[in-house]
Amino acid sequence: MVAEIIINSSVKVLNRIFDYEIPENMNVDLGSRVFVSFGNKKTLDEGIVIGIKEKSEYKVKPILKLQEGKIEKEKIELSKWMSKRYLCNVSDCLKLMLAPGTTNKNIDLRVKEKTVNLIMLAKDNYEVEEDIENGKIKSEKQKNVLEFLMNNETATIQDIELFTDSTRSVVNTLIKNGYLEYKEQKVERNPFIHKLQIKSNNLKLTDEQKLVLSSVKENGEYLLYGVTGSGKTEIYLQLIEKKLKENKSSIMLVPEISLTPQTVDRFIERFGEDKIAVLHSKLSIGERFDQWNKIKDGKAKIIIGARSAIFAPAVNLGLIIIDEEHDESYKSEMTPRYDAKEVAEYIAESKNIPLILGSATPDMNSYYRAKLGEIKLLKLTKRANNSNLPVVSILDLRQELANGNKSMLSLKLQEEIQKNLLVKKQTILFLNRRGFSTFIMCRECGYTVKCKRCNITMTYHKNVNKLKCHYCGYEEEIVKECPECHSKNIKYFGAGTQKLEDEVHKFFKEASTIRMDVDTVSKKNSHEQILDKFRNENIDILIGTQMVVKGHHFPNVTLVGVIAADSSLNLGDFRANERTFQTLTQVAGRAGRGECEGRVIVQTYNPDNYAIEYSKTQNYDLFFDTEIVLRKQLKYPPFCDIILIDMSAKNENELKNVAKKLHTYLKTRVINEKFGLLLYSPVPSPVDKIKDRYRWRMIIKCKYDEKVNNLLSNTLKEFTEMKTKTARVNIVINPNNML
Ligand code: ADP
Ligand code: ZN
Ligand code: ZN
Repeated sequence: MVAEIIINSSVKVLNRIFDYEIPENMNVDLGSRVFVSFGNKKTLDEGIVIGIKEKSEYKVKPILKLQEGKIEKEKIELSKWMSKRYLCNVSDCLKLMLAPGTTNKNIDLRVKEKTVNLIMLAKDNYEVEEDIENGKIKSEKQKNVLEFLMNNETATIQDIELFTDSTRSVVNTLIKNGYLEYKEQKVERNPFIHKLQIKSNNLKLTDEQKLVLSSVKENGEYLLYGVTGSGKTEIYLQLIEKKLKENKSSIMLVPEISLTPQTVDRFIERFGEDKIAVLHSKLSIGERFDQWNKIKDGKAKIIIGARSAIFAPAVNLGLIIIDEEHDESYKSEMTPRYDAKEVAEYIAESKNIPLILGSATPDMNSYYRAKLGEIKLLKLTKRANNSNLPVVSILDLRQELANGNKSMLSLKLQEEIQKNLLVKKQTILFLNRRGFSTFIMCRECGYTVKCKRCNITMTYHKNVNKLKCHYCGYEEEIVKECPECHSKNIKYFGAGTQKLEDEVHKFFKEASTIRMDVDTVSKKNSHEQILDKFRNENIDILIGTQMVVKGHHFPNVTLVGVIAADSSLNLGDFRANERTFQTLTQVAGRAGRGECEGRVIVQTYNPDNYAIEYSKTQNYDLFFDTEIVLRKQLKYPPFCDIILIDMSAKNENELKNVAKKLHTYLKTRVINEKFGLLLYSPVPSPVDKIKDRYRWRMIIKCKYDEKVNNLLSNTLKEFTEMKTKTARVNIVINPNNML
């Protein structure tokens, strides 16, 4: 028999199938992981069997080794589908479906597992008893150890030392004489750090919740649109419970950032730790490996994880939930650039199970599809615990400036913070820019300090007194003199979270503050530690970037201040309004979740912008109706797909040449074959240099169908045949951001 094998490699020319012979006594199957020798290479390459046939038309080499762990047939199908849709290698997709940490070459899975040596009797109890009685064993210490193990089956060496007062050498003698033996036992590394575990019961559902729950049928796609705090999570819990009763597992995706123990705890409290697995990038590889196996063995029936958890080897999958479905993190920004929502749709459809998308601010695409009837719309319009939605006021910063207030905090916001401090209520201040100053400019000649590798402005970080590039991490000493005109008149503009924290301390000397942004969050769990500290120590003010927005529940927070709502309006992206509305609604959702009423103050230079205005009443429908008209006029999603052809190279001329050739190729085909699409000319990307690579791009607006897919995949072939020196081409389908 012959196996069709995909070599585990991202090299484009290897993105095809190779035939290898299956040796007589090797148990190779569809999905098997094997080692083969490829070409003239001395080392072995890993491959995955994606087909089996009688014979090959070529002269083939044999498979050399069989590796543990197999991929399910359906995952192979999924990988093929992804490879086509996202224009990448099948092996790149297959990697996502392998147990974490096992994609390296030639490793033995078993050594990756953490084990302890347990000691146990090597003979039956009565044999040992006999030997003690007829004097074969004389040493008291030996007797003690044997008796201890007769009563306790297994123990670690430390246990034996502790409980029998004997030593390692006694144990070793007993092993040598055949009385004891070692047994290796796998220990599960445990990512559940919180150990509270109060059991929670199903809440009595509101009428709205009841209706939603009963509307979810055995299959189909649903959009659960529910205002913040409307009890979506309770719905998820009860849907999962139903599936558990049918012995089916569920996958729930949440954005990476909100995958906190707090989220996981609600599930543990309801279902117990044993049935739950969590998967996200903050876990160590060992932890992820264990969680993966817990799922694969069918022990964990509830899988909670970030984007890539959609590939978990769930046994008897019965339900997929995607919470905060509008979140950007569901789209991968690395190869393979897949959209977990689309993958979920594929899986749900092929398994004929329900898929629930939940959000307080649905993605424009999802809501549009719901309106068209492609997915079923379920609504929760009220907060479940009867708390009111917060009162949002919009504050015009132009007016503030006119009144002579140049600080980052408007007078109104200062007053409200003061009120909160007096009554010991907590405040969150949100500013979507980290660092201290966001750009540095010479006042004489207008020179701005940019990263040498990325052509983007450097940000001043006061704590380390350095300039940092937020794209590549490059650091530089601060600039005191203009390198162009040697003027000393250098000014630091723009303000980030560090500066905000400084200002807060100036105004409120007594207030305790804590800051959360990429600079303060780095170590494992640190993000959670900040939130815990804020909650448990009742810190007065939490200052943070985007990270503070997502799904957290702080009952004592009654005031949220948005320092500059405009920062997301000036994104230079067609989704700027959508992102602004989403962000404002989500931040506002953090206020007043407990018994006290919440207040939100949104500071802006654009009070008339509709995304800002509608966030005042958190009226998603009104926002949607306005935005959708614009999208249609300007021909943006959901009325088309956007395809970004991202080109880069170390040499600018090489890059221009590639861009020109690819454009000509595309244009010729588009005209000759009468494609109904919009092809734009190649232009330098908005950030036209990152990490020493120049960047150009081309954009296509179209309906991404089979025909366009074909065109794109031919374009990539065309590029490969150019055999360029340093150029790279990436095609991204509906990219998250247009920078
Ligand atoms: P969402 O996921 O929509 O933000 P949650 O499920 O977190 O909402 O619910 C918000 C709050 O309301 C939580 O404290 C939750 O315990 C409570 N809650 C949810 N459903 C009910 C219910 N049926 N009865 C009482 N309280 C509820
Ligand atoms: Zn200058
Ligand atoms: Zn840089």
